[in-house]
Parts: sequence; C-alpha cells; structure tokens
Amino acid sequence: MNEENKNKRTLPFVSRLAAGITPYTAGEQRNDRKYVKLNTNENPYPPAPAVAEALQRFDPAALRLYPAPDADGLREKIAAAEGVAKENIFCGNGSDEVLALCMPAFFDPDGKGACFADITYSFYPVFCSLYSVPQKIVPLREDFSLDLGAFAAADCQGYLIANPNAPTGMGIPKEEIFAFVSSQKDRLVIVDEAYMDFYGCSAAEGIGRYKNLLVVKTFSKSYSLAGIRCGYAVGDKGLIDALFRVKDCFNSYPLDRVCQTVCAAAVGAREYYAACTKKVVAERERLCAALRERGFTVPESKANFLFAAKKGLDGGTLYQTLRDRGVLVRHWDAPKIADFCRITIGTPAQNDALLCALDDILRTAAEDRARHAAR
Ligand code: PMP
Repeated sequence: MNEENKNKRTLPFVSRLAAGITPYTAGEQRNDRKYVKLNTNENPYPPAPAVAEALQRFDPAALRLYPAPDADGLREKIAAAEGVAKENIFCGNGSDEVLALCMPAFFDPDGKGACFADITYSFYPVFCSLYSVPQKIVPLREDFSLDLGAFAAADCQGYLIANPNAPTGMGIPKEEIFAFVSSQKDRLVIVDEAYMDFYGCSAAEGIGRYKNLLVVKTFSKSYSLAGIRCGYAVGDKGLIDALFRVKDCFNSYPLDRVCQTVCAAAVGAREYYAACTKKVVAERERLCAALRERGFTVPESKANFLFAAKKGLDGGTLYQTLRDRGVLVRHWDAPKIADFCRITIGTPAQNDALLCALDDILRTAAEDRARHAAR
C-alpha cells in the first residue's frame, strides 16, 4: 500500500484502496446544445458514412449472443491498416482500458515503476495508484518539451509517453522516439498515440523492429467514435499476449458486438477520415494564429487541441468566463499549468464562437482595467 492510501480513513465495507485512491476526473459531458463543447477533444465531424450504414445493417437479434472475445475480425482489419499481423493487435474498451491493462501486464507493484512526465495525461498516475505501480515522474522542460535524456536517466521498469502530449499538444518526431526506444532495450516504452493522426508521425511502423515498443491508439479522436469506446495496442506478439492474459482475468468480452462492427467499418473509411483530419488541422493552425494575435502563449500543437494562456488572465477565471458565455474548455488547477486552458478544435463556426467569446472577455477586462486606472 502506498503512503497516500495508508493515510486515508477507513470506510465501512470499503477497501483501503477504494477509500484512498483519487480517481481521474473526466471532462464535463453535456449533451444540451446550449454549449459550444470544446472540452474533451472529441472530433467535431460525424463518423464516416460507412459507420452509419453498418449500424443500419446491424441485426439486433445478434445481441443475444456474446461478442467475439478477442475481437478477431476487428483486429484483422486494424492489423491490415497498420501493416502488421492480427497477433500484433490488442483491442480494449477505449484506449483508457488498454492503458490500464498495461499496468498489471508490464509493471510490478514491487518493481522500479512507470516513468512519465509531470505534465501529461492525468490518468497515468491514477492507473499506477490502482495497480500499486511506483511512479517515476520527470519534469517537462520550461517550454513544455519532453526531456528524453532525463527519461533515460530515470530508474524505472518502463515508460509512458503521450505523443502528441496532453494537455500541451506538443509532439516528438518518430525518429526521436525510435532512438529512445533503441537506447532503452531493457525497458518497455509505451507510446500513447491518442492524437497521432493529427500529427501523422506514428511510431507504429517501428513494430517488428523494436520488441520493447508498444503503441496505443484510439477510435475516439480521429475516427469520431468517442461514444463507441474502442482503443488498441500495436506491439510485439509477446506484449500483446501479456495484455490478453490480463484481459482474460478481468473481462472476457470488453468490446460489444456493436462496437466491433462499427469500428471495423470505420477502419475502411480512410479517405473520409483523412479529409476530416485535414479540416481539423487547418482549423488548429487558424485558431492558434488567432490566439497568438490576441496575446496568448500557445505551444505548437500537433493534436486536435490547443493549450493557451495569457499573461494577466487567470486560467480558472478564463475557463469560468468562457463557460458563462456558453463555451466549454478544460482547465486544471495544477502546478505549472494553472494559467492555461485546453481548447479542443471545433468546426470553423465553433472556433469563431470561441474567438468571439474571448474578444468579449478581453474587452471587458480592458474596460475594467481602464475604470480602475481612472479612479
Ligand atoms: N490518451 C490520452 C493522451 C488521452 O487524452 C485520452 C482521452 N482522454 C486517452 C488516452 C483515452 O482515450 P479513449 O479511452 O477514449 O480511447
């Protein structure tokens, strides 16, 4: 048991782990149309027409039977798209589940721990706590770039690297990932590529060359299927087998029949998704320039979101004032990033609504300052 759990009070019938753990907080999910929803990095465009067709063709009678336990048909489709064999693919109920299963599969509770950045996907420390995996946390550089040299120096069992990183959006070229992976032959490097399609620099092509590389991807972002819950890992057969071993200790059927059918249809719709991704990337560049023009600091993003802060504007206040104007973004009251808000790239109209709300906020703030100065 770690220190955090030891210090927590006991609750009747509840394990010390459940009583003591701090769970991940997902972004607010609002389905009313009152808000411009730019807070959970969903894709603003609908899934491919092939997905709608697959749903229409889906026979509800099929739901009487359990789904394929290992998602063989879907894994075959993903494998073909990734240029690997089915045995190199593991599917889970969202990439969150794949990442969670990586803990018991690749990290020992009494081992040297999982190494990750201080500013990265905030689910990683939660997964570690749940599985009692020690955490080796390496600070990002001042400019939020990842210091792979410092990662290499960490005494750990393996690494978790989000590329592009969240919530900064910054990316590392695959050549640097490969150099790092080959310098760390005795440690597993898990690259979380949830946002990779908006960068186009996947390390998955290194599978086959590197036995210590596992790439994790999702259908939630570039495939516009956050609602279906599917993610997958690409890696050496030995790593994939380990994931199956832990999955089969946990849930035989993590992917339901609808999910397997829909995702298999989505994998085939390459051109449609490439076009959507292109639109998101173009909007990302437009919005980034517009924010910088307004005096915001915005690290270069390779993802479908921007991380933005403006001197003199408190991040929490910005989040709240945007919310008051009907725009949802994400804010973390955490060290080093409390000034920032993370803004998902929306449609051009949604991004314009954000800029309009920001202009209103900046104008009001300037007027307040002028009033104060005049007193
Ligand atoms: N990795 C990162 C870096 C993410 O931001 C997210 C989305 N919150 C995930 C993984 C998980 O995505 P999903 O479970 O929807 O596949």
